[in-house]
Amino acid sequence: MKIAIVGGGPSGLYFAYLMKKRDPNIHVRVFEQNTPDATYGFGVVFSDMALPYFEEADEESFKAIIGAIKAWDNHTIVRHDERVTIDGVNFSGIARLDLLRILQGFCGRVGVDIDYENRIATLDALTGYDAVVGADGINSVVRTLGAPHFATKIYELTNRFAWYGTEARFETVTLTFRPVERGVIVAHHYPYNDAMSTFLVECDRAAWEGEGLDRMNDEARMAYAEQVFAPDLGGHKLISNNTTWRCFPVITNAHWVHGNMVLIGDALRSAHFSIGSGTRLAMEDAIALWRAFGEAGADVPAALAGYQAARRPIVEKMTTAARASFEWYEDMASKMHLSPVALAHDYMLRSGRIDDARLRRLAPRFMERYDRERAAAG
Ligand SMILES: Cc1cc2nc3c(=O)[nH]c(=O)nc-3n(C[C@H](O)[C@H](O)[C@H](O)COP(=O)(O)OP(=O)(O)OC[C@H]3O[C@@H](n4cnc5c(N)ncnc54)[C@H](O)[C@@H]3O)c2cc1C
Repeated sequence: MKIAIVGGGPSGLYFAYLMKKRDPNIHVRVFEQNTPDATYGFGVVFSDMALPYFEEADEESFKAIIGAIKAWDNHTIVRHDERVTIDGVNFSGIARLDLLRILQGFCGRVGVDIDYENRIATLDALTGYDAVVGADGINSVVRTLGAPHFATKIYELTNRFAWYGTEARFETVTLTFRPVERGVIVAHHYPYNDAMSTFLVECDRAAWEGEGLDRMNDEARMAYAEQVFAPDLGGHKLISNNTTWRCFPVITNAHWVHGNMVLIGDALRSAHFSIGSGTRLAMEDAIALWRAFGEAGADVPAALAGYQAARRPIVEKMTTAARASFEWYEDMASKMHLSPVALAHDYMLRSGRIDDARLRRLAPRFMERYDRERAAAG
């Protein structure tokens, strides 16, 4: 069997490795437009729920990933300079480049061919393969080449965001709201190794237009963000990695399979950064497709159909949670009258997956503080 994978990101590399490791006779080729060490962004987070899935799929790569991640407890919300700690919410961070290097190494060991600096633009390059996997991210070419059969829907959110890095150190995953004259601006920041942190800045449309960000270039926007978040950066600069400000595209596909083509990862559906699960979901898609091939063997249509049937309900659940989460941010101006503790409580309940009872079990100290504040307010 011959499999072409377009995209050497987390989903494409992980799927390639798992397939080739199980059956060395399969020919697996990854087409990646960039060089091995080129990547956008800085670090990504995994919630503690993500890691057992990787362990179950492949212990060897799991151990390597675990060795490179940084784990931390608690979540912090900062509002009006007040820090609210939400205990019991555990995350791990990893540099995206470290994750890619690990997966590239495992692919190399099992004999996956990775064709770097080869951008796929037409279907011609993909003829002769039994299966073509679109793992080519948010602007997927495979998805476009397969249109209209995937029945793709795309719309953009109104908030803008930019993904920076910084050498500033943070103890936890933190959401910091800083006052600006017009609109709302927030930073999502967390450490992902001993030297670096991710610092993602997001603003609503009122801030984008009212603060004049729409009329600045990216350099001036970065300087503006440094000034707004100066109390948090502690003298450190923001670092750009071709960072541009943009609106998040919400992408879904009614059909995941067209002929011998199948979509996984961000190509299949974008996962908003506020749920911190894009990489995890992409890698879980890879696991699901690999398992479906395990069941169907060389019967490609059966494998692709099995993947869609097994994975769709889980993805739909996550998509619903992600929608509730990004809607919270789109509407964050309406929350700014809340006290820092009430804001943190509202934030924790935003996706509908957590209610007060669950939060009491997860974050007992935070809920004590919340109850005390409510009792004091009568
Ligand atoms: C601002 C921001 C913050 C994020 N934060 C987090 C986070 O904290 N935690 C988290 O888990 N996720 C996060 N994500 C999401 C995460 O980065 C993605 O969900 C994840 O990388 C998806 O993996 P993927 O393999 O599907 O796609 P990608 O990682 O996008 O990889 C696609 C690959 O395909 C290649 N490619 C594209 N087109 C072609 C072509 N035509 N030919 C050849 N190669 C091609 C690209 O170069 C790339 O290497 C964030 C995303 C953004 C935008």
